[in-house]
Amino acid sequence: MDNQNPLTQKAQANPLAQYYRRPGTYVRLPSSGRFYSKPPKFSDTGELAVFPMTAKDELILKNPDALFNGEAIKQVVASVCPDIPDVNEIPAADLDMILVAMRMTSYGDDMGLSISHGCDESKGREQSITVSLGSIIASLRPIPSDVGIVKLSSGITVALRPYNLHDQSRLLRMQFNTMRQIQANEENKLLSTEDRTRIATEQYNSMVELAQQLLTGCVEKVSTPDGVEVTDRRHITDWVKNLDRASVDRLDQELKRFQEFGIIREVTTKCDYCGTDYKTDMLFDPTSFFTAGS
Ligand SMILES: [Zn+2]
Repeated sequence: MDNQNPLTQKAQANPLAQYYRRPGTYVRLPSSGRFYSKPPKFSDTGELAVFPMTAKDELILKNPDALFNGEAIKQVVASVCPDIPDVNEIPAADLDMILVAMRMTSYGDDMGLSISHGCDESKGREQSITVSLGSIIASLRPIPSDVGIVKLSSGITVALRPYNLHDQSRLLRMQFNTMRQIQANEENKLLSTEDRTRIATEQYNSMVELAQQLLTGCVEKVSTPDGVEVTDRRHITDWVKNLDRASVDRLDQELKRFQEFGIIREVTTKCDYCGTDYKTDMLFDPTSFFTAGS
């Protein structure tokens, strides 16, 4: 009976394996694989394979909650990028690239967008434009190796990583819960003014706490002027808690520098109604960005 047990049965090659979906495209990542503790497996040319979405992936993204649910994005990215060992570690800039590549390989290069300039002439009307996802991918600017290294006035050198997918989903979840709580409070007529103030303060405090945790998570290594390198998470956490305002600002500023690299999400269009050029940020909202023919 042993041979009936799938665990002990000798694996039979599936004759359908050669018909499984194949990588739809290969892209270079803005991080070039830096900032991952378990780096992605790249092709010989240093590129990441991105597969088209499966029917199941599309269903996951069609759930209206997907927008507020980092887990949905993680699940789909893990499916289309099997060569990334831990999707939680994907830096924000890499994620943008992956999402565009995923959309392109699933639905083609052209993407239709409805956008609005909001000028008086447009009277609130939208206009349709077509964006070439291939040209957005080609706009890649890799993150230079010196970005993320900060020397503070105390002589300490800090190595930072960009915010990653895990950070983004924590932030989304917090924002979503706060929004729900605010709605519930507004509907609850029994709450006193004191209660409302107390709840608002608690929410504010937990946002501040999360911001500090996210910043701490971005500190990979701290080196003292005499050459001691600290990577112990507890030591780093205590150090960040005791940092002066100016140093925290300096770290925040360096984290923002990461956003200057990656793909260019902005599209410039001439307004149909007033003739002025204007810019739109392509938002990768899962409920619209990943539906065919949108
Ligand atoms: Zn206009």
